[in-house]
Amino acid sequence: MSEYLKPLPEADAASQPFWDGAMEGRLVLMKCSDCGQWRLPSRAHCDNCLSESFTWETASGGGTVRTFGVMWQKYQPGWAAETPYNVTIVELDEGPRLPTNVIGISNENIRVGMRVKVDFEKHEDVALPKFRPV
Ligand SMILES: [Zn+2]
Repeated sequence: MSEYLKPLPEADAASQPFWDGAMEGRLVLMKCSDCGQWRLPSRAHCDNCLSESFTWETASGGGTVRTFGVMWQKYQPGWAAETPYNVTIVELDEGPRLPTNVIGISNENIRVGMRVKVDFEKHEDVALPKFRPV
C-alpha cells in the first residue's frame, strides 16, 4: 500500500469517544439527556434545548444523502490520485448531518435522497466514517 498523504484527524478529550467508537466500527454520537436530540461531537450544548447534559450513544449507521459536491481541483497532494472525489452531507437517521464521502459508487451515480450506511476507513490510529449505498 502506498503512503497515505491526506491529513488525518486527531482526537481531543471532547471527541475521544467518537474516534474510539469509529475504531470499533461504531458511529458514536452525543445524545442530549434532557430532550433526546442527537448531535455531532463535540458540541457543548444541545441545539434544541441548550442542555449541557448528554450521553455517548451508538447510532444506527444509516442515513440519507442530503447534498453533495464533486471536487475536481487538486488543492492538496493527498487527494490527487482520487480526484474527482465527492464531499457529501449525510443526514443520519438520528438527525445530525455529517460531512463525509460516499464510497463504492461512481460520483455520477450519487443522488440526493439515496440511502447509505456507514463503513469505516481504518488507519493505524484512526478510522474515518464513510458511507456506502444500501
Ligand atoms: Zn436537548
